[in-house]
Amino acid sequence: MQSLPSKIVILGTGGTLAGTATEPGDNVGYRAAQIGIAEIVARIPALAGVPIETEQVAQIDSKDMSYAIWRALAKRVAFHLGRDDVAGIVVTHGTDTLEESAYLLQRVLAPGKPVALTAAMRPANALQSDGPQNLVDAVCVARYAGAKGVVAVLAGRIHGAFEVRKLHTYRIDAFGSGDAGPIGVVQEGVLTLWRTWPECAALGLHVLARDTPPRVVTVMSHADADGGIVDALLAHGVDGIVVAGTGNGSLHHALEAALRRAQGEAGVAVLRCSRVACGPVLPTANDVFESAGSLTPAQARVELLLRLSL
Ligand code: ASP
Repeated sequence: MQSLPSKIVILGTGGTLAGTATEPGDNVGYRAAQIGIAEIVARIPALAGVPIETEQVAQIDSKDMSYAIWRALAKRVAFHLGRDDVAGIVVTHGTDTLEESAYLLQRVLAPGKPVALTAAMRPANALQSDGPQNLVDAVCVARYAGAKGVVAVLAGRIHGAFEVRKLHTYRIDAFGSGDAGPIGVVQEGVLTLWRTWPECAALGLHVLARDTPPRVVTVMSHADADGGIVDALLAHGVDGIVVAGTGNGSLHHALEAALRRAQGEAGVAVLRCSRVACGPVLPTANDVFESAGSLTPAQARVELLLRLSL
């Protein structure tokens, strides 16, 4: 008789969860990505009885995330998801670009098993380190029967890959899911679910086949946004522009004129989202730029990058 998959693979990529401060208690002057994932797991007694395998995919401050690391990470996640003995995957990550990586992994792989990203706002040797509890919670979600898709597990909440966003620069409870709210919570190993797991058609790993990705840049609308940045990008070479508009994605008239030229004359793909933290960009009459819905500007950039890679 075949046994049920039970193994959890934890892929380490660095971040504050793996960071250390010279002075314990310094919550901002620390260095991210200092401790290897195997050691981080070995330091957590609550994980001792769990069948866990670790693998270091990267060791970076996630502000430095790159297409090359995304590609390597997606390949390793896909590899382990394909193993019969693996129940789920946890990815340790920095908080800064977590929403981008989560979105990318969901769009590319749309996993039928759980892939739980987790992170920390305080370094490993902080007075109040949130990393160990977040990791334990993420493992719990990755082991949960029926869980699937890419989620982020932070401060006891389970956020879906399409909605997760960093909303606070400092607080331990720094993440939200916008209007949708979290999928659920994990409390002392017990999951309470309010919504369904993320689902979509998988684009497939081949969408990341190129060595050099399309050049996709984000610009913002603001007072006196004169569109000069768009002209500079056209001169520099650009394949796609994500514009973070004001309110419902509205744009300064000069920036809009420059983007119309970029889209109409130079054939640059433009995707419109909002610089406001939550809420969708709703269609209006005579829209000339496609709306990215409720995606954050950072996630909209990933979406456009993937579309241009097809
Ligand atoms: N700069 C860190 C990173 O994203 C922040 C964190 O992990 O909280 O890797």
